[in-house]
Amino acid sequence: MSASRKVICIVCPNSCIGEVSIEAKQKPKVHGYICARGKSYAVAEATNPLRMLTTTVRVRGGVLPLLPVVSSAALPKDCIAVGVQMLSEIVVDAPIKAGQVVYAKLLGLSVDIVASRDIAMQTL
Ligand code: SF4
Repeated sequence: MSASRKVICIVCPNSCIGEVSIEAKQKPKVHGYICARGKSYAVAEATNPLRMLTTTVRVRGGVLPLLPVVSSAALPKDCIAVGVQMLSEIVVDAPIKAGQVVYAKLLGLSVDIVASRDIAMQTL
């Protein structure tokens, strides 16, 4: 079985448009990219697309009700929706420091979810 897919390279502003052809048990073939970085990106995008996860989680006792968070690395695109759903169910206690891990090894992957900013405790 073979398949080909058009992929727009987003590695640099040139936005080269090329195609990745995948045949069973064969190395993917790429056309239309003018550099090695683009070829690598296109193959990864066609075979195992990865994305950074960004969302917000609820905060208890903070000066703000929501904390922006980001994944420590890109994770499989197919995991993003379920990851966001899981994170919608957690609550983090203030105070929070930027870079603090708020959820370790999301979905059993080697990816942590970290705070994107500080949030101080609310004082009365
Ligand atoms: S293929 Fe190379 S030059 Fe073209 S957009 Fe990708 S990184 Fe830029």
